[in-house]
Amino acid sequence: MAHHSDMQVHNIQAAVLRRRGGPLKIESLEMEGPRNDEVLVRIVASGICHTDISFVDGWDETDGPIVLGHEGAGVVEQVGKKVKSVRRGDHVVLSYQSCGCCHKCRSGHPADCENFYEANFGFARLDGSNALTHSGVRGHFFGQSSFATHVLATERNIVKVPKKLDLEVLRPANRSRHRDKLAGGPERSKYRHLRYGGGRPGGGHGSAHCRGQTDHRCRH
Ligand SMILES: [Zn+2]
Ligand SMILES: [Zn+2]
Repeated sequence: MAHHSDMQVHNIQAAVLRRRGGPLKIESLEMEGPRNDEVLVRIVASGICHTDISFVDGWDETDGPIVLGHEGAGVVEQVGKKVKSVRRGDHVVLSYQSCGCCHKCRSGHPADCENFYEANFGFARLDGSNALTHSGVRGHFFGQSSFATHVLATERNIVKVPKKLDLEVLRPANRSRHRDKLAGGPERSKYRHLRYGGGRPGGGHGSAHCRGQTDHRCRH
């Protein structure tokens, strides 16, 4: 771990997409963080689904290199100062991201977040920053970019799971939930033309997500 100014920088490896159609190549990158509200997760398993494939096939390389992957599962390595619900060593499954401050999020429906597009397909934090900027690559896909050894998530898109459960099995279980969300959504679309459909996710996911999250301060 190195330090750039006052922010930690972690050396990670990630599968980077640099041109339409791939390939995804493993590269060594520098990732800064975690910020106060972020959780650094070491990825143990990550699914690959048609949403990732559609981005590989449709990516406009003039938009720059990116890290995909949105079905990660892993172990918490470090937490930001304001993170309360997980600690180092906890096992977590990663899900979609939401802003936490719009009307939908505040009323317990983060799957309908008014900033869903920016939070999941913006390849940046909601404040516009990007933890992989030192390496000239963008991440934060679905608030994770899980085709990597390590990711930054937040309490809003992690679900703590019992350590006795196999993370490699939980990863595809996570997948089926948000696949509903994406049905009729971005497949075959280019990134900038993405539209996410009105399909609602599997029951209970959103509410489970919001449990214990009374801190809805906006940071952007
Ligand atoms: Zn998926
Ligand atoms: Zn929201």
